[in-house]
Amino acid sequence: MGGIARVPVAIALGSNLGDRDAELDEAEDRLAVLLSGAVASARYETDSVGGPADAPAYLNEVVVGSTLLAPRPLLEALQAIEIAAGRERPFLNAPRTLDLDLILYGDFVIDEPGLAVPHPRFRDRLFVLQPLAEVAGDWVDPVSGQSVQDLLDRLPPTA
Ligand code: AMP
Repeated sequence: MGGIARVPVAIALGSNLGDRDAELDEAEDRLAVLLSGAVASARYETDSVGGPADAPAYLNEVVVGSTLLAPRPLLEALQAIEIAAGRERPFLNAPRTLDLDLILYGDFVIDEPGLAVPHPRFRDRLFVLQPLAEVAGDWVDPVSGQSVQDLLDRLPPTA
């Protein structure tokens, strides 16, 4: 059938405040409403990067699915889910109940104020690439031309 095309998207979830599993459960439920065919990776516990030295560890996962939403409305919907989770932004990289990052939107490359896709730092982040490879290892990054699995395999062990 013709009509409006669904676009596959990958979203990275992270929580390092409160009941992290419950936050991710709730976020998965909300993403299941937003996306078609949503699939979640396993959850990985990872040290906080870039925040205060004593920041609590994160629980991270990735959800893939498809959407009819354009990139900007999708990002706004993700931000609404963060706000619903009680997220506050007292300072940069502060611990957060829920962080949602739009990692990939089909093979689109977007670089606008407040919206960069693919997410500019996802290639360096084990906590994104590892769960992403689990559910979408063959997805080709439109910027580097490498698959998610290749990006993961080439990541230095310290990342
Ligand atoms: P953070 O505090 O890490 O959640 O960053 C949120 C800010 O990053 C917001 O102002 C967004 O507009 C901006 N942003 C830019 N690109 C993205 C993206 N691909 N996914 C999520 N946030 C993004």
